[in-house]
Amino acid sequence: MDAGDVVARFGRAGGGDGGVDPAGHGCEDAEGAGGLRGVSHNPSRVRGRGNQGPRVSVDDHMGQRKAPKDGDRKVGRRALLIGGTAAAVGSAVLARDELARLWWRVPGVEKPRKEGEVDFTGARWVAASDANWRRADRPDDYGIDMVVIHVTQGSFDSAVKVFQDPEHGAAAHYIVRKDGHITQMIRELDVAYHAGNRDYNERSVGIEHEGFVERPQDLTDEMYEASARLTARICARYDIPVDREHIIGHVEVPGTDHTDPGKHWDWDRYMKLVRAARTAPA
Ligand SMILES: [Zn+2]
Repeated sequence: MDAGDVVARFGRAGGGDGGVDPAGHGCEDAEGAGGLRGVSHNPSRVRGRGNQGPRVSVDDHMGQRKAPKDGDRKVGRRALLIGGTAAAVGSAVLARDELARLWWRVPGVEKPRKEGEVDFTGARWVAASDANWRRADRPDDYGIDMVVIHVTQGSFDSAVKVFQDPEHGAAAHYIVRKDGHITQMIRELDVAYHAGNRDYNERSVGIEHEGFVERPQDLTDEMYEASARLTARICARYDIPVDREHIIGHVEVPGTDHTDPGKHWDWDRYMKLVRAARTAPA
């Protein structure tokens, strides 16, 4: 379906979810969202939830952060201390090295970024609208311990289009195409609005898969394999256990009314592929 069309007909997707469709992705707040959900499959939902109410996004305080974790605070204080000591004794060389290593752990200082940089080798970068994610400094401000699997309920092109649309209010970090091609639209550093649950958004990486939940033929071998390699790399990077507690479907996110990746998603097969990719030499 043409999600752009839906936006035109139904207006803004409230707190911003909408997904490309009923099984699509979710925004930060499960409550305020949902204007577009169910448009094609469950129109009653559109009437019941939605667009008209005030936006009650739990994420309205953009940019505000949780208090740093204890570990971070300690490192930050230590880095500052090292700076002070270095100035006092005048032996700046060692301290400079130490600071160079730790400077981004000082509260308020973010890791360096480069335009167009991707987190997964081979992925193509296409930026999502910055209305569909929140800048963060993961895994230092929020730990990452989950991968959330989605199915787009639309074509690859329509998914890219809605993720670039500031009115959409939702987007995932990655989209895996049927031919296995991977596009990254949001850095893993940042919080993507894909799970419809703020806590889950903050702690997860979201991966969309091109296709429809009711069409098993959309879930191709190439897609499973590419996605499994991507998930395996994410698990390796953040030391996430490869199990179904930590690699979940959107449907398993608390509070969601989304059904993706759907009953045709072969979890046994996928987990086997992820495990194989995780243990394969890089
Ligand atoms: Zn989803």
